[in-house]
Amino acid sequence: MRHDLDGIAVAARRVLVTGGAGFIGSHLCERLLGEGASVICMDNFLTGSPGNVEHLLGRPGFRLVECDLTGYVHVPGPVDLVLHFASAASPADYLRHPIATLKVGSIGTLHALGLAKEKGARFVLASTSEVYGDPLEHPQRETYWGNVNPVGPRSVYDEAKRFAESLTTAYRNSHGVDTAIVRIFNTYGPRMRPHDGRAIPTFVRQAIYGEPLTVTGDGTQTRSICYVDDTVRGVLALAASDFAGPVNIGNPAELSMLTLAETIRRLTGSDSSVKFVDRPVDDPEVRRPDTALAAARLGWTPQVDVTSGLRRTIAWFEQQLLATRPAS
Ligand code: NAD
Repeated sequence: MRHDLDGIAVAARRVLVTGGAGFIGSHLCERLLGEGASVICMDNFLTGSPGNVEHLLGRPGFRLVECDLTGYVHVPGPVDLVLHFASAASPADYLRHPIATLKVGSIGTLHALGLAKEKGARFVLASTSEVYGDPLEHPQRETYWGNVNPVGPRSVYDEAKRFAESLTTAYRNSHGVDTAIVRIFNTYGPRMRPHDGRAIPTFVRQAIYGEPLTVTGDGTQTRSICYVDDTVRGVLALAASDFAGPVNIGNPAELSMLTLAETIRRLTGSDSSVKFVDRPVDDPEVRRPDTALAAARLGWTPQVDVTSGLRRTIAWFEQQLLATRPAS
Protein backbone atom coordinates (compact mmCIF):
# COMPACT_ATOMS: atom_id res chain seq x y z
CA MET A 1 0.00 0.00 0.00
CA ARG A 2 1.53 3.33 -1.01
CA HIS A 3 0.37 6.99 -0.69
CA ASP A 4 0.98 10.05 -2.83
CA LEU A 5 3.36 12.24 -0.89
CA ASP A 6 5.93 14.60 -2.27
CA GLY A 7 6.13 12.62 -5.43
CA ILE A 8 6.71 9.40 -3.49
CA ALA A 9 4.44 6.93 -5.23
CA VAL A 10 2.08 5.65 -2.57
CA ALA A 11 -1.52 4.73 -1.82
CA ALA A 12 -2.78 4.09 1.74
CA ARG A 13 -6.43 4.97 1.32
CA ARG A 14 -7.66 4.84 4.91
CA VAL A 15 -5.45 6.04 7.73
CA LEU A 16 -5.99 5.90 11.49
CA VAL A 17 -4.19 8.68 13.35
CA THR A 18 -4.18 8.11 17.10
CA GLY A 19 -3.65 11.35 18.99
CA GLY A 20 -4.92 13.04 15.82
CA ALA A 21 -6.38 16.02 17.69
CA GLY A 22 -2.99 16.89 19.18
CA PHE A 23 -0.33 19.22 17.85
CA ILE A 24 1.55 16.95 15.40
CA GLY A 25 -1.45 14.63 14.87
CA SER A 26 -3.64 17.45 13.60
CA HIS A 27 -1.01 18.46 11.02
CA LEU A 28 -0.75 14.81 9.94
CA CYS A 29 -4.54 14.57 9.49
CA GLU A 30 -4.58 17.79 7.46
CA ARG A 31 -1.74 16.68 5.21
CA LEU A 32 -3.15 13.19 4.64
CA LEU A 33 -6.57 14.58 3.71
CA GLY A 34 -4.85 16.95 1.32
CA GLU A 35 -3.22 13.93 -0.32
CA GLY A 36 -6.64 12.31 -0.86
CA ALA A 37 -6.58 9.75 1.98
CA SER A 38 -9.51 9.09 4.30
CA VAL A 39 -8.58 9.86 7.88
CA ILE A 40 -9.94 8.54 11.17
CA CYS A 41 -8.69 10.85 13.90
CA MET A 42 -8.87 9.09 17.27
CA ASP A 43 -8.30 11.02 20.47
CA ASN A 44 -9.44 11.27 24.08
CA PHE A 45 -8.61 15.01 24.22
CA LEU A 46 -6.31 14.61 27.24
CA THR A 47 -3.82 17.14 25.87
CA GLY A 48 -5.31 17.74 22.42
CA SER A 49 -8.63 19.29 21.52
CA PRO A 50 -11.35 19.05 18.88
CA GLY A 51 -10.53 22.68 18.04
CA ASN A 52 -7.26 21.50 16.43
CA VAL A 53 -9.19 19.62 13.75
CA GLU A 54 -12.35 21.72 13.66
CA HIS A 55 -11.40 23.04 10.21
CA LEU A 56 -11.30 19.44 8.90
CA LEU A 57 -14.69 18.35 10.22
CA GLY A 58 -16.70 19.08 7.08
CA ARG A 59 -14.10 17.62 4.72
CA PRO A 60 -15.03 14.41 2.87
CA GLY A 61 -13.19 11.40 4.26
CA PHE A 62 -12.53 12.89 7.69
CA ARG A 63 -13.89 11.34 10.90
CA LEU A 64 -13.17 12.43 14.44
CA VAL A 65 -13.67 9.69 17.03
CA GLU A 66 -13.46 10.35 20.76
CA CYS A 67 -11.83 7.25 22.22
CA ASP A 68 -9.33 6.42 24.95
CA LEU A 69 -6.84 4.10 23.33
CA THR A 70 -6.18 2.33 26.63
CA GLY A 71 -9.81 1.13 26.72
CA TYR A 72 -11.84 -0.78 24.14
CA VAL A 73 -10.83 0.20 20.60
CA HIS A 74 -12.77 -0.75 17.52
CA VAL A 75 -12.57 0.67 14.00
CA PRO A 76 -15.08 -0.67 11.49
CA GLY A 77 -13.93 -1.25 7.91
CA PRO A 78 -10.48 -1.44 6.37
CA VAL A 79 -7.41 0.48 7.57
CA ASP A 80 -4.24 0.66 5.47
CA LEU A 81 -2.04 2.65 7.83
CA VAL A 82 -1.95 3.33 11.57
CA LEU A 83 0.01 6.38 12.73
CA HIS A 84 0.27 5.94 16.49
CA PHE A 85 0.76 9.43 17.95
CA ALA A 86 -1.39 9.29 21.08
CA SER A 87 0.61 10.30 24.16
CA ALA A 88 1.15 13.40 26.21
CA ALA A 89 4.45 14.81 24.96
CA SER A 90 5.25 17.97 26.89
CA PRO A 91 7.03 17.42 30.23
CA ALA A 92 4.43 19.54 32.04
CA ASP A 93 1.68 17.33 30.57
CA TYR A 94 3.25 13.96 31.28
CA LEU A 95 4.31 14.96 34.78
CA ARG A 96 0.68 15.95 35.42
CA HIS A 97 -0.55 12.65 33.91
CA PRO A 98 2.17 10.11 34.76
CA ILE A 99 0.03 6.97 34.87
CA ALA A 100 -2.01 7.93 31.79
CA THR A 101 1.29 8.45 29.93
CA LEU A 102 2.61 5.04 30.94
CA LYS A 103 -0.73 3.47 30.04
CA VAL A 104 -1.01 4.98 26.58
CA GLY A 105 2.62 4.07 25.82
CA SER A 106 2.06 0.48 26.90
CA ILE A 107 -1.62 -0.58 26.75
CA GLY A 108 -2.46 2.07 24.13
CA THR A 109 0.40 0.89 21.91
CA LEU A 110 -0.69 -2.74 22.42
CA HIS A 111 -4.19 -1.82 21.22
CA ALA A 112 -2.92 0.19 18.25
CA LEU A 113 -0.64 -2.68 17.21
CA GLY A 114 -3.49 -5.17 17.64
CA LEU A 115 -5.60 -3.07 15.33
CA ALA A 116 -2.82 -2.89 12.71
CA LYS A 117 -2.47 -6.69 12.93
CA GLU A 118 -6.23 -7.26 12.57
CA LYS A 119 -6.45 -4.92 9.55
CA GLY A 120 -3.16 -5.93 7.91
CA ALA A 121 -2.12 -2.24 8.09
CA ARG A 122 1.30 -0.67 8.17
CA PHE A 123 2.03 0.76 11.62
CA VAL A 124 4.20 3.76 12.51
CA LEU A 125 5.10 4.41 16.15
CA ALA A 126 5.81 8.01 17.13
CA SER A 127 8.79 7.49 19.39
CA THR A 128 11.03 10.24 20.65
CA SER A 129 14.57 11.47 21.07
CA GLU A 130 13.82 11.08 24.80
CA VAL A 131 14.65 7.38 24.43
CA TYR A 132 18.27 8.62 24.33
CA GLY A 133 17.81 10.20 27.78
CA ASP A 134 20.65 12.48 28.85
CA PRO A 135 22.87 11.27 25.99
CA LEU A 136 26.50 10.28 26.33
CA GLU A 137 26.84 10.22 22.53
CA HIS A 138 26.49 13.42 20.52
CA PRO A 139 24.88 13.83 18.02
CA GLN A 140 22.55 10.91 18.62
CA ARG A 141 22.52 8.11 16.07
CA GLU A 142 19.84 5.41 15.97
CA THR A 143 22.44 2.86 17.14
CA TYR A 144 22.85 4.65 20.49
CA TRP A 145 21.02 2.84 23.33
CA GLY A 146 20.50 5.84 25.54
CA ASN A 147 21.06 6.98 29.11
CA VAL A 148 17.70 7.01 30.88
CA ASN A 149 17.01 7.09 34.62
CA PRO A 150 14.25 4.46 34.99
CA VAL A 151 12.94 5.92 38.26
CA GLY A 152 13.38 9.64 37.53
CA PRO A 153 10.31 11.84 36.99
CA ARG A 154 10.77 11.84 33.19
CA SER A 155 10.83 8.04 33.09
CA VAL A 156 7.02 7.92 32.78
CA TYR A 157 7.47 9.21 29.23
CA ASP A 158 10.94 7.91 28.30
CA GLU A 159 10.38 4.37 29.53
CA ALA A 160 6.85 4.21 28.09
CA LYS A 161 8.31 5.05 24.68
CA ARG A 162 11.17 2.57 25.12
CA PHE A 163 8.60 -0.11 25.99
CA ALA A 164 6.50 0.95 22.98
CA GLU A 165 9.55 0.52 20.71
CA SER A 166 10.16 -2.94 22.15
CA LEU A 167 6.51 -3.96 21.75
CA THR A 168 6.46 -2.66 18.17
CA THR A 169 9.56 -4.71 17.38
CA ALA A 170 8.02 -7.81 18.96
CA TYR A 171 4.86 -7.42 16.85
CA ARG A 172 7.03 -7.18 13.76
CA ASN A 173 9.13 -10.23 14.63
CA SER A 174 6.46 -12.45 16.19
CA HIS A 175 3.29 -11.42 14.33
CA GLY A 176 4.71 -10.17 11.03
CA VAL A 177 3.10 -6.72 11.36
CA ASP A 178 4.60 -4.19 8.95
CA THR A 179 5.92 -1.76 11.55
CA ALA A 180 8.14 1.32 11.62
CA ILE A 181 9.56 3.45 14.43
CA VAL A 182 10.27 7.15 14.09
CA ARG A 183 12.27 8.93 16.79
CA ILE A 184 11.02 12.50 16.65
CA PHE A 185 13.19 15.33 17.99
CA ASN A 186 11.76 18.60 19.36
CA THR A 187 9.10 19.76 16.93
CA TYR A 188 7.37 23.14 17.01
CA GLY A 189 4.81 25.14 15.08
CA PRO A 190 1.21 26.37 15.06
CA ARG A 191 -1.31 24.60 17.36
CA MET A 192 1.08 24.09 20.25
CA ARG A 193 -0.71 25.19 23.40
CA PRO A 194 0.61 28.49 24.80
CA HIS A 195 0.72 26.98 28.29
CA ASP A 196 1.94 23.48 27.43
CA GLY A 197 5.20 24.21 29.25
CA ARG A 198 7.50 23.55 26.27
CA ALA A 199 10.21 26.16 25.66
CA ILE A 200 9.02 27.63 22.36
CA PRO A 201 5.37 28.31 23.26
CA THR A 202 6.51 29.59 26.65
CA PHE A 203 9.08 32.04 25.23
CA VAL A 204 6.76 33.19 22.45
CA ARG A 205 3.87 33.77 24.86
CA GLN A 206 6.11 35.62 27.32
CA ALA A 207 7.67 37.73 24.56
CA ILE A 208 4.28 38.68 23.11
CA TYR A 209 2.95 39.64 26.54
CA GLY A 210 6.17 41.51 27.44
CA GLU A 211 6.83 39.19 30.40
CA PRO A 212 10.33 37.93 31.38
CA LEU A 213 11.49 34.94 29.32
CA THR A 214 12.09 32.12 31.82
CA VAL A 215 15.26 30.29 30.77
CA THR A 216 16.03 27.20 32.87
CA GLY A 217 19.51 26.72 34.38
CA ASP A 218 22.14 28.95 32.79
CA GLY A 219 20.61 28.41 29.34
CA THR A 220 23.67 26.64 27.89
CA GLN A 221 21.81 23.31 27.47
CA THR A 222 20.99 22.69 23.82
CA ARG A 223 18.07 21.48 21.72
CA SER A 224 17.58 20.99 17.99
CA ILE A 225 14.22 22.21 16.82
CA CYS A 226 12.31 21.01 13.77
CA TYR A 227 9.39 22.83 12.14
CA VAL A 228 6.23 20.70 12.13
CA ASP A 229 5.87 20.59 8.32
CA ASP A 230 9.30 18.97 8.09
CA THR A 231 8.45 16.44 10.80
CA VAL A 232 5.17 15.54 9.09
CA ARG A 233 6.95 15.09 5.75
CA GLY A 234 9.49 12.79 7.42
CA VAL A 235 6.81 10.71 9.16
CA LEU A 236 4.84 10.29 5.94
CA ALA A 237 7.95 9.42 3.96
CA LEU A 238 8.63 6.67 6.50
CA ALA A 239 5.00 5.52 6.31
CA ALA A 240 5.26 5.37 2.53
CA SER A 241 8.46 3.33 2.62
CA ASP A 242 9.01 -0.25 3.70
CA PHE A 243 11.71 0.76 6.20
CA ALA A 244 11.30 -0.43 9.80
CA GLY A 245 13.64 2.06 11.43
CA PRO A 246 14.12 3.26 14.06
CA VAL A 247 14.92 6.46 12.25
CA ASN A 248 15.57 9.95 13.62
CA ILE A 249 13.47 12.82 12.29
CA GLY A 250 14.64 16.21 13.48
CA ASN A 251 16.54 19.29 12.45
CA PRO A 252 20.26 19.06 13.31
CA ALA A 253 20.48 22.87 13.72
CA GLU A 254 21.40 22.91 17.42
CA LEU A 255 21.06 25.96 19.62
CA SER A 256 21.32 26.78 23.31
CA MET A 257 18.16 27.61 25.21
CA LEU A 258 19.46 31.11 25.86
CA THR A 259 20.05 31.65 22.12
CA LEU A 260 16.56 30.33 21.44
CA ALA A 261 15.06 32.79 23.94
CA GLU A 262 17.05 35.68 22.49
CA THR A 263 16.09 34.74 18.92
CA ILE A 264 12.40 34.67 19.83
CA ARG A 265 12.73 38.00 21.63
CA ARG A 266 14.33 39.52 18.52
CA LEU A 267 11.79 38.05 16.08
CA THR A 268 8.83 39.23 18.15
CA GLY A 269 10.37 42.70 18.59
CA SER A 270 9.82 42.28 22.34
CA ASP A 271 11.72 44.10 25.08
CA SER A 272 11.16 41.30 27.62
CA SER A 273 14.04 40.57 30.00
CA VAL A 274 15.49 37.08 30.53
CA LYS A 275 14.93 35.46 33.92
CA PHE A 276 16.92 32.35 34.89
CA VAL A 277 14.90 29.73 36.78
CA ASP A 278 15.57 26.23 38.15
CA ARG A 279 16.36 23.44 35.73
CA PRO A 280 13.99 20.41 35.79
CA VAL A 281 15.33 17.11 37.20
CA ASP A 282 17.17 14.94 34.62
CA ASP A 283 16.81 17.65 31.94
CA PRO A 284 19.11 16.53 29.08
CA GLU A 285 22.28 18.57 28.57
CA VAL A 286 22.40 18.27 24.79
CA ARG A 287 20.18 17.06 21.96
CA ARG A 288 20.97 16.81 18.25
CA PRO A 289 19.82 14.20 15.74
CA ASP A 290 22.12 12.50 13.31
CA THR A 291 19.83 12.44 10.26
CA ALA A 292 22.09 10.52 7.86
CA LEU A 293 19.83 7.46 8.01
CA ALA A 294 16.67 9.47 7.18
CA ALA A 295 18.50 11.07 4.25
CA ALA A 296 19.79 7.73 2.95
CA ARG A 297 16.67 5.59 3.45
CA LEU A 298 13.87 8.15 3.01
CA GLY A 299 15.53 10.92 0.99
CA TRP A 300 14.43 13.23 3.81
CA THR A 301 16.18 16.35 5.04
CA PRO A 302 14.59 19.29 6.88
CA GLN A 303 13.75 22.24 4.62
CA VAL A 304 12.54 24.97 6.99
CA ASP A 305 15.30 26.96 8.69
CA VAL A 306 14.90 28.04 12.30
CA THR A 307 14.19 31.71 11.56
CA SER A 308 11.44 30.97 9.00
CA GLY A 309 9.87 28.32 11.22
CA LEU A 310 9.89 30.59 14.25
CA ARG A 311 8.44 33.48 12.22
CA ARG A 312 5.51 31.30 11.11
CA THR A 313 4.98 30.04 14.65
CA ILE A 314 5.13 33.52 16.17
CA ALA A 315 2.62 34.83 13.61
CA TRP A 316 0.19 32.07 14.59
CA PHE A 317 0.65 32.68 18.33
CA GLU A 318 0.20 36.42 17.89
CA GLN A 319 -3.11 35.80 16.15
CA GLN A 320 -4.27 33.43 18.90
CA LEU A 321 -3.01 35.31 21.93
CA LEU A 322 -3.81 38.86 20.94
CA ALA A 323 -7.33 37.82 19.91
CA THR A 324 -8.06 36.13 23.24
CA ARG A 325 -6.12 38.25 25.73
CA PRO A 326 -8.46 39.73 28.32
CA ALA A 327 -8.38 43.55 28.38
CA SER A 328 -6.24 44.76 31.32
P1 NAD B 1 0.08 16.46 21.98
O1 NAD B 1 -0.06 16.35 23.47
O2 NAD B 1 -0.29 17.74 21.33
O3 NAD B 1 -0.73 15.30 21.25
C1 NAD B 1 -0.94 14.03 21.81
C2 NAD B 1 -2.38 13.63 21.55
O4 NAD B 1 -2.61 12.32 22.08
C3 NAD B 1 -3.38 14.56 22.26
O5 NAD B 1 -4.36 15.00 21.34
C4 NAD B 1 -3.97 13.70 23.36
O6 NAD B 1 -5.27 14.09 23.73
C5 NAD B 1 -3.89 12.31 22.73
N1 NAD B 1 -3.92 11.22 23.70
C6 NAD B 1 -3.20 11.10 24.83
N2 NAD B 1 -3.55 9.97 25.48
C7 NAD B 1 -4.50 9.35 24.73
C8 NAD B 1 -5.28 8.16 24.87
N3 NAD B 1 -5.12 7.36 25.93
N4 NAD B 1 -6.17 7.85 23.92
C9 NAD B 1 -6.34 8.66 22.84
N5 NAD B 1 -5.66 9.81 22.64
C10 NAD B 1 -4.74 10.16 23.59
O7 NAD B 1 1.60 16.08 21.66
P2 NAD B 1 2.42 16.19 20.30
O8 NAD B 1 3.53 17.13 20.53
O9 NAD B 1 1.52 16.39 19.15
O10 NAD B 1 3.04 14.73 20.22
C11 NAD B 1 2.40 13.71 19.46
C12 NAD B 1 3.24 12.44 19.49
O11 NAD B 1 4.54 12.71 18.96
C13 NAD B 1 3.44 11.86 20.88
O12 NAD B 1 3.38 10.46 20.81
C14 NAD B 1 4.83 12.30 21.24
O13 NAD B 1 5.45 11.41 22.12
C15 NAD B 1 5.52 12.31 19.89
N6 NAD B 1 6.65 13.27 19.88
C16 NAD B 1 6.44 14.61 19.86
C17 NAD B 1 7.52 15.48 19.89
C18 NAD B 1 7.36 16.98 19.82
O14 NAD B 1 8.36 17.70 19.86
N7 NAD B 1 6.17 17.52 19.72
C19 NAD B 1 8.82 14.96 19.97
C20 NAD B 1 8.98 13.58 20.05
C21 NAD B 1 7.90 12.73 19.98
